[in-house]
Amino acid sequence: MGLVVQKYGGTSVANVELIKNVARRIISTKEKGNQVVAVVSAMGDTTDELVQLTRQITPKPEPREMDLLLSTGEIISCTLLSMALRAAGHEAVSLSGAQAGIQTDAAHTDARIVAMNPGRIWRELQGGRIVVVAGFQGVTESMDITTLGRGGSDTTAVALAAALCADRCERYTDVDGVYTADPRVCPEARKLKDISFEEMMELAVQGAKIMHPRAVEMGALHNIPIVVASSFNDAPGTLIHNEVTMELQSKIRGISHDTDVAKITIIGVPDRPGIAAGIFEPLAEKRVSVDTIVQNASANKMTDLTFTVARKDLDKAMDVIKPLVKSIGAKQCVADSTLGKVSIVGTGMQTAPGYAAKMFRTLSDKGINIELITTSEIRITCIVSEKQVVEAVQALHQAFRLERVA
Ligand code: ASP
Ligand code: MG
Repeated sequence: MGLVVQKYGGTSVANVELIKNVARRIISTKEKGNQVVAVVSAMGDTTDELVQLTRQITPKPEPREMDLLLSTGEIISCTLLSMALRAAGHEAVSLSGAQAGIQTDAAHTDARIVAMNPGRIWRELQGGRIVVVAGFQGVTESMDITTLGRGGSDTTAVALAAALCADRCERYTDVDGVYTADPRVCPEARKLKDISFEEMMELAVQGAKIMHPRAVEMGALHNIPIVVASSFNDAPGTLIHNEVTMELQSKIRGISHDTDVAKITIIGVPDRPGIAAGIFEPLAEKRVSVDTIVQNASANKMTDLTFTVARKDLDKAMDVIKPLVKSIGAKQCVADSTLGKVSIVGTGMQTAPGYAAKMFRTLSDKGINIELITTSEIRITCIVSEKQVVEAVQALHQAFRLERVA
C-alpha cells in the first residue's frame, strides 16, 4: 500500500488503444492497494504539431499565447485517460496543471515551479479516485497558463511525487530503462539496474534524452526514487536513486552524446576583470543557456574565449556577441555549428586515475580530433565533429567494456 505517481510519455498515450493500455496499467497498480496519481504528456507528436501550426501564422508567437496553446495537448490526453479509467469502472478525475495546484513563475515556455498546492489532489485521493494530471504546465500568480519547457511532464511528475511525499515515482515511455549508451547508436548498450541521481544528472545534461535534467535534479533534491520503464511491456526498468550498488570493474556508468552543439570563439579578448561577466551577462539576459566555457591562459594580456550553446541558440547568441566584440576591444568572433559532444560518466572516476587518458587515446586511435574538453568530478566531455559522434560513442563503449556487467 502506498502512493504512487506514474508518468506516461507521449508515445505511451499516442492513440486511443494505447490510452486504454495505460488505463489498464494504472488500474492494476491501484488494485494492488495503491493510491495512484498519473501524469501524462500530450499524445504522440501533438506538441510538435501545435508548434508547426503557429509557424504557419507567425515566426514569433507571443510566449503567453504559445503556452496556452501548448497546454491543450496535455489536456486532451489527461481527459481521455480519465474517461478510459471510468469506462473501465474506476473512479477517476482529470486535472489541469492549474487545478492540480502547480504554481510557476511567469517565464513563459520555460517556466519554473515556485509552489505546489496539492489540496485538491488530496481530496480526490481521499474520495478514492485516481487522479490524472496534465503534465508540462502550471499557472502563474496572475492566472496565466505556463509550460515548463519541452519534455517538462517529467518535472510535473517528480514535483508532484515530492509534494505528495509519494512512495515512488514511476516514469513510463517506449524505452525500458537507462542504458550504458543510446541503444540506437550503440547496439551493445546494456540496460542498467540502477544509477545514482548524480550520474543520471550528468548523463541527462550532456545529452541523454532519457529524462529531463530538471526532473532528475528535483528527484535528487527531495530524494524521490524514480523508476524508468516501458509502458509496452513488464520488463524491470532502471531505478534512479541515492544508493547505488558499486560496479566494481567498470567504473564508468554510461556514455551520453549530443549532436546539437555550436561553438563560438571570441579571439583576442583583453584580459582584465569584468570582461567575462560583460560577455555572459547579456547572454543570460537573452536566456541563452551556455554550456561549456573555456578561456585560454593569456599571452600579452590577450586571451581567447570559447563557449558552446545549443544550435538553435546560435543565431541569438551571435546577435549578442557581435556588437560586444567591438565594445570590449576583442579582435573577432567565429562560430562553428557542426559539432557534437560525447561524455563518459561514473562516480568511480573520482578515485581512480587514468580515465581521461584512456578516453583521449581511444578517440585518437579512431582519428577523432578533440575540439574542447571539459570535466566534472564524475564526467569527462569531449567536443568533437558532429559526424564522428556515433563512432566515438561506439569506440568508448568498447574501450571501457561497458557491455559487461561488473
Ligand atoms: N508535450 C511536451 C513536449 O512534447 C511535454 C512532454 O512531453 O513532457 O515537450
Ligand atoms: Mg512529448
